[in-house]
Amino acid sequence: MVIRVEDIPAQGKQESFLEDEGSLNERLGGEATDSGLHFFGPVQVWMNLSRSGRVILVKSRIEARVKCVCARCLDPFTLTINSEIQASLKPKPDPHLASSEEIELSREDLQTDFYEGEEVDLSPLVQDQVLLTLPPKVVCREDCRGLCQRCGKNLNRGTCQCEGAEVDPRLAPLKDFRVH
Ligand SMILES: [Zn+2]
Ligand SMILES: [Zn+2]
Repeated sequence: MVIRVEDIPAQGKQESFLEDEGSLNERLGGEATDSGLHFFGPVQVWMNLSRSGRVILVKSRIEARVKCVCARCLDPFTLTINSEIQASLKPKPDPHLASSEEIELSREDLQTDFYEGEEVDLSPLVQDQVLLTLPPKVVCREDCRGLCQRCGKNLNRGTCQCEGAEVDPRLAPLKDFRVH
């Protein structure tokens, strides 16, 4: 999604668009094979853009669907993620000028990105937002019973013969796994 800076009115405008999931999956790269995470279907984006001079303020809400593998029972499932952020986009500082302004920027709460020229590509911002929203570990449901630590049976599908046997103490912390 590319937008011309001068097309953003000071009072703001709404944009909604779909961001292709292809480049997100590319950015997941090798990580995707470990965790089984990959996006399917485009990311839905709702934005409110406003502008003060050359500084663009973005409020962005995203919703994306991710295929992943449960960290406890290893079953594949679909997760819907959504998040809302605010960011500001500023013209790239001139490298020949002193960088005192940049130090000030880093103290702001808003995420700050830079753009060059008269057009802004919103895709990198959206991609960062989506990737930052991904949880590091996911479980298919809060009460997922996981796999039997002895025979490997998926305990969501019923009990196994090992029930009542001792839990290997090295694996005990896994019982407390939660999504953050
Ligand atoms: Zn599970
Ligand atoms: Zn078992």
